[in-house]
Amino acid sequence: MNRATKMSPTLPAEDTLAPARKVLAASIGIDSHIDTVQRVLVMGEDLSKRHDAGHVDIPRLREGGMHAPFFALWVPVFFRGAEAVSRTLDLRDAMQSLLEANTDQLELDTTAADIKRIVKSEKIAVVLTIEGGHTIDDLRVLRTYYRLGIRSMTLTHARNNNWADSGNDTPVHNGLTDFGRDVVREMNRLGMIVDLAHVSDQTFYDALEVSTKPVIVSHSSMRAISNVARNVTDDMLRALAKNGGVIGICFGMGFINPRDADALRSATDTEAEAPPLTGRELDAYAAENAQKLFGERVKVVAMVEDVADHIDHAVKIAGIDHVGIGSDFDGIAATANGLEDISKMPALVAVLLKRGYSEADLKKILGENHLRVLREVTGV
Ligand SMILES: [Zn+2]
Repeated sequence: MNRATKMSPTLPAEDTLAPARKVLAASIGIDSHIDTVQRVLVMGEDLSKRHDAGHVDIPRLREGGMHAPFFALWVPVFFRGAEAVSRTLDLRDAMQSLLEANTDQLELDTTAADIKRIVKSEKIAVVLTIEGGHTIDDLRVLRTYYRLGIRSMTLTHARNNNWADSGNDTPVHNGLTDFGRDVVREMNRLGMIVDLAHVSDQTFYDALEVSTKPVIVSHSSMRAISNVARNVTDDMLRALAKNGGVIGICFGMGFINPRDADALRSATDTEAEAPPLTGRELDAYAAENAQKLFGERVKVVAMVEDVADHIDHAVKIAGIDHVGIGSDFDGIAATANGLEDISKMPALVAVLLKRGYSEADLKKILGENHLRVLREVTGV
């Protein structure tokens, strides 16, 4: 056996990913949902450095070619009323500190035009979003969030709130209340993207009926493949396409492979239990909860190819213009094997290239589709 033959089966993985890296370098990489801000607030992590823990930091964003992530201010559902508003502001403040400490690397953006300019300047464009409509019970608060640079909000998180049903709870409103419909109208008017991840099916259809702008489902996958409430049905995909919206495919445990779904269900249940605490005691409980989420590495069955299956299915049903990436990194206990953190994005792109996606199609999935929604909603 000559040396060349002997070497060929063990070529470094780096070489096989070169075409994928090239596609990512030519794209504006948008991930429509990461929960990394909580690691800044709760654990005081410095995102300018590369970490082994968690899924996202600035060096890994650059390695993964994702230059415009939607940073979610995720407020767990056990924060209620004024506590939920206060928690949103704490997360917004943590994000501000991060922006100010890294002005050479990060810049806040509030429009699609901003994203293009910032990414061109080789910085990471930060889009701010809110996870959980329980953070507003008043349109004045919603408008204030908008003025703080927030450009999207999921209508619910893992439990019903006072005006919308969640997909992980027993319905009490039969979708959106009249006030919930006003929230959608006000988001349309302000220029905030309505995000339908986490909502019940009826809330989803009610919001589409009211919204005059494209919506997103920032981090969900296909119910046809993994039958969990957090994923969307084919009928919902068709409605989303008709609205002009985009789904960001989630990489999290249980969303992708049904064999991981039971573990996902138990994780969702634990998080939703609300303790009778307020103030600092509630913050301490939230910190403990976050540590639990990141503490133990859970084994998952799902592979990067399974994620590609969800993308294939979404493209088949909704069309290439309505599918994007919404990993849920730093909000999930475990991800698909091969996509352990955001630096591994080239592995997913390599699988999609192998399946025959053109560079133009991949650019849409990797960011152009979400960019279009942001442009249509903000008007810029
Ligand atoms: Zn979520």
